[in-house]
Amino acid sequence: MGMGKCKHCGTTILFGGQRDSNGNLYCNATCMEQDVPSRAREILPQDVIDRYTDSIRESECPVCHGRCSPIDIQYSYRVVSFLVITQYSTRPRLSCTRCARMANIKDFLITAIAGWWGFPFGILLTPIYLIRNMIKFICPVGENAPSEALKDLSSTLIMQQLAEEQEANENTENAHTLNQLPQERNE
Ligand SMILES: [Zn+2]
Ligand SMILES: [Zn+2]
Repeated sequence: MGMGKCKHCGTTILFGGQRDSNGNLYCNATCMEQDVPSRAREILPQDVIDRYTDSIRESECPVCHGRCSPIDIQYSYRVVSFLVITQYSTRPRLSCTRCARMANIKDFLITAIAGWWGFPFGILLTPIYLIRNMIKFICPVGENAPSEALKDLSSTLIMQQLAEEQEANENTENAHTLNQLPQERNE
């Protein structure tokens, strides 16, 4: 039963669509296949994902290199306009909450100064984006528990590591086989 957005491509789905076992909605089977993080989260054991997610949360902040608070995927929002051109962006970053709040302040100020000067989208979007920065400043992501987006990221990274390990193993196996081939003999 419809009305939602495809988790993979973001298309609005009015009728039909397809859901995975976690209830995520997709246009069709192709979009479902291509949503790598969700497929990974179905395959991988929950405790493996949790442990990896915790290790990211407890690691050094990639922005300030501090260890003051849990790391998560944080967002800030920016609108910049010039006459009829309005650029608006949601800017994700992996950081601590302190760096996230700094980014919210910075993008709030940039938007407050440069957002308004486009018609119509600058005028329409600027107040919304200012409020979005304020909300995230008050409630940064992942203060009490990891976000779903961070769990998605962990799952993708685990799958990448597994793929790399498998490839490395295959290479050693090949090397092994080559070593076992009979040596050329000088006859
Ligand atoms: Zn889709
Ligand atoms: Zn930081």
